[in-house]
Amino acid sequence: MIDSHCHLEMTDFDNDLKDILKRMSENGVTHAVSIGSLAQNERIEKTMEITGLYDNIYTTLGVHPKSPYKDLENISELFSRYYSLNKKNIVAVGEIGLDYFLSDIPKEKLENVKTKQKELFKFQLRLASAKKLPVIVHIRDAYEDAIDILKEYSRNEDGFFGGVIHCFSSAESAIAEEFLKMGFFISFSGNITYKKNDGLRNAAKEIPDEKLLIETDSPYLAPQSFRGKRNEPSYVRFILDAIAGEKGVERKKLDGLTVQNTVNLFSLDDVSGFYPGVAYKIRNSVYINLTNKCTNRCSFCPKYQGGKSYFCVKGYNLELKKEPSAAEVISSVFRYYNFKEIVFCGLGEPTLRIETLKEVAVSVKKIAGEIKVRLDTDGLANAVYGRNIAAELQGIIDSVSISLNAQNSTLYNDLCAPQIKTKSVDAYSSIIEFIKESRKYIKNVAVSAIDLPGVDIVYIENIAKSLGVDFKLRHYNDVG
Ligand code: SF4
Ligand SMILES: [Zn+2]
Repeated sequence: MIDSHCHLEMTDFDNDLKDILKRMSENGVTHAVSIGSLAQNERIEKTMEITGLYDNIYTTLGVHPKSPYKDLENISELFSRYYSLNKKNIVAVGEIGLDYFLSDIPKEKLENVKTKQKELFKFQLRLASAKKLPVIVHIRDAYEDAIDILKEYSRNEDGFFGGVIHCFSSAESAIAEEFLKMGFFISFSGNITYKKNDGLRNAAKEIPDEKLLIETDSPYLAPQSFRGKRNEPSYVRFILDAIAGEKGVERKKLDGLTVQNTVNLFSLDDVSGFYPGVAYKIRNSVYINLTNKCTNRCSFCPKYQGGKSYFCVKGYNLELKKEPSAAEVISSVFRYYNFKEIVFCGLGEPTLRIETLKEVAVSVKKIAGEIKVRLDTDGLANAVYGRNIAAELQGIIDSVSISLNAQNSTLYNDLCAPQIKTKSVDAYSSIIEFIKESRKYIKNVAVSAIDLPGVDIVYIENIAKSLGVDFKLRHYNDVG
């Protein structure tokens, strides 16, 4: 288990932090994310000291909506200072957000306070984009405004590197749905165990397992059996138990998956047996990200827009620090347990790692024969390797989707800028050849194109028809 949100720097833990950490490991909680608050000097210093002492404690940087702060410029300075000193331990910007539980504020000042909170929230979201970090979002009594702000943020040009709605407390599944659509994870804490919280438990049941995180928010919000007492990271097991019970999922499975989710969100690369950005689930399919390398350099690539490199898809950061081995892929894929298909896709060309791809496909078929295997490719593998790769995929790939993207070679070279070094190979003809070969060896073959200006979709559809394969229209900037 990982406690994805706690506050270990608080004075509540001053006397027995060592014991707290010992109890964590005794109870199978390997790591924790202890929130770093930039609002008070002594608190952030203490957090940095803790993360320096203990390898399994990560931290974040941010100003809570209710915390006092000097001004935005000062936050920016503090952020830069602590980030440059502790980059390797800092995994997110947070907790930030909106908190309209403002009973102590006189009525006439309410709007002003809310406006300031929104300004602070947006400012810190921009910091997250600039540092390519995910965000940990705190929302209380402010879902409507928070959804508006996050909608804009999750589509922003500077990049959205994922995030989590921490201590989710709404019983309305429509609210959770809004965040899920944007690509956020949802995290539950101790209040899910409270006797009267049936509504929240029902909401948790509806959250897809691959989007769940668990947390304690300690020292606050102790679970039911310790209610009113100090909370601590080892109690995150009670949150896991409550959700597993509610969902009817084996505890061990949900444990593995919530750890995988946390590893994916925060790109944690030192949690033994777990690998960030290798596999991610959308609906009934697990997508596999074998490499960030490409045969092409497409002008429309979501990876390279506006001169920046940006590797996020639906809230997942797919920038690989290291290309995964077949064993690492298999272990990542089977962290998920309710899927029907695997798809070699990601932000890179999977066939550039053809041996690993084949090994994974064979293993998946061996482990779970009913799982379908799909490949999304640029169709240039034969040109790259100088041999018939389509034939090698027989029996291990059930369907292939090949991006043709253009009605002729000139437009293809313009749009996709193939980087194949052999001058004698015409990329476009090689793809057409690959489509024909795929038809011989692979059951379902489709050709795809993106609705970009200059692309004659009807013409490409006809090419697909004449080759006897299906056609799929893709939309610009809609990956995965
Ligand atoms: S093939 Fe895909 S990932 Fe590679 S450059 Fe083109 S659009 Fe980007
Ligand atoms: Zn908190």
